[in-house]
Amino acid sequence: GRRAAVAAATGPGATSDGHRVPLLANVGGPDDVAAAVAAGAEGVGLFRTEVLFFERAKDLGAGQGPSEEEQVAAYRRVLEAFPEGRVVVRVLDAGADKPLPFLTADDEPNPALGVRGLRALLARPEVLDTQLRALARAAAGLPVHLEVMAPMVADRADARAFADACRAAGLDARYGAMVEIPAAALRARALLQEVEFLSLGTNDLAQYAFAADRQAGALARHQDPWQPALLDLVALAADAAKAEGSSCGVCGEAAAEPLLACVLTGLGVTSLSMAAAAIPHVRAALARHTLAQCERAAAAARAADGAAQARAAARAVLSGE
Ligand code: PEP
Ligand code: MG
Repeated sequence: GRRAAVAAATGPGATSDGHRVPLLANVGGPDDVAAAVAAGAEGVGLFRTEVLFFERAKDLGAGQGPSEEEQVAAYRRVLEAFPEGRVVVRVLDAGADKPLPFLTADDEPNPALGVRGLRALLARPEVLDTQLRALARAAAGLPVHLEVMAPMVADRADARAFADACRAAGLDARYGAMVEIPAAALRARALLQEVEFLSLGTNDLAQYAFAADRQAGALARHQDPWQPALLDLVALAADAAKAEGSSCGVCGEAAAEPLLACVLTGLGVTSLSMAAAAIPHVRAALARHTLAQCERAAAAARAADGAAQARAAARAVLSGE
């Protein structure tokens, strides 16, 4: 009825039978927070902290990133916007493809396969430590549920190194690993021996699963998140999280497509994070289907032979019921 329709337009994310799927926003900094709140985001699922670093690098020239004080102020403005909510902060994700002169090499032949993300931070531990300390200070005294995650985790040793850095910084937060590299999806249970949650970065996961540069327009077909092989990798990570009693969200562009959001839910993904503008559409789509319907759509998509067929199969399941 009308009340259900209103709840579906504004309330927390859930399937029609009440299976909760928190809907979170992707933000680049304090300027994106108003839109996230207006869309009814239940928190932030991906705070891309590198945006602050890129802006600072532009202002300050090649030399340096934002000071610890500047970081504290910027992080605090985002954390304050979601009292009681969840905010998942991604530590700096830079590389030769997203260069920061003080941190990254500029002469790598294959930037996407180079020293980027967590790899660059582990090579310069003082940059990671400063960022974690700034986060701990920004969150101090706030009721927010702070979570911190690392980009480009390849294996258990990476996950352990990040967890060690979080502990050393005295961070009162859950810490997690992004699953963006197929090896991480294949060994997701091992990662969960070191960190407390997973978050799938489906943009990079597609890039690496299909060996297709995400910037290359000519390879767009391989970036399609409906590729059944990508859905298989999502399922591996989601199943591992379930087996370990943990959570596994999605924060790549895939979460923003309403039909695909239903399929991801059916695969066992526990939260969806997206551009704020997509949240109402995803909320409405989830509210139209039960969890069992989403699971049937997910199974139909995974059984398909290609991305277009997977989308059609999921649509047929969800519109036929
Ligand atoms: C991803 O790779 O899916 C992701 C969320 O990170 P980014 O797009 O910032 O690389
Ligand atoms: Mg990524």
